[in-house]
Amino acid sequence: MAFFVPSHGRPDRNPTSNVIGMTTSAAVPTGSEGAIATGDTVTDRLVEANTRYAEAFTDPGMDASPVLHVAVVACMDARLDLHKALGLQLGDCHTIRNAGGVVTDDVIRSLTISQRKLGTRSVVLIHHTGCGLESLTEEFRTELEMEVGQRPAWAVESFRDVDQDVRQSIQRVRTSPFLLHTDDVRGFVFDVRTGLLREVDPA
Ligand SMILES: [Zn+2]
Repeated sequence: MAFFVPSHGRPDRNPTSNVIGMTTSAAVPTGSEGAIATGDTVTDRLVEANTRYAEAFTDPGMDASPVLHVAVVACMDARLDLHKALGLQLGDCHTIRNAGGVVTDDVIRSLTISQRKLGTRSVVLIHHTGCGLESLTEEFRTELEMEVGQRPAWAVESFRDVDQDVRQSIQRVRTSPFLLHTDDVRGFVFDVRTGLLREVDPA
């Protein structure tokens, strides 16, 4: 490298940038590394990725109803790639995610629309090992109140026993008066180390 003399006419041949981008240079089109270097935000990177996605995208011609008639409620955890973990394809399902994969009123709102307006009939609930909500308590609401002078209206929905939390979520779906289909509701814990799902006995 020490003997390299930069060629001003061909900056893309600079071996230094090739070393830095060894594993990504082939996959990331020209311009991405430059964008990072100039201090663009992560959102800028996402928008840039979208332009590449759209270039290869063709209209699948689907309507909004999920092909498999299933809604999946899961934690927002970044280690859980729902589509890959469940073998799902574009258009297969509704995915409803929040911190913990908790069945809140707003999740019931989404499930109600999913079932009554878009034809889903099955509900799959997915919590996971090592969830951040296990290390929180409802005391978090008090901490927020002390800091900002206002107590949030929402519950933290923290938990200690992931299986019990899945059972509670199953019960909240099964007992909702708004849902049309509450017979096929199953709950699982996704192991972030092995990638395997373990079904939770609802009893
Ligand atoms: Zn989680």
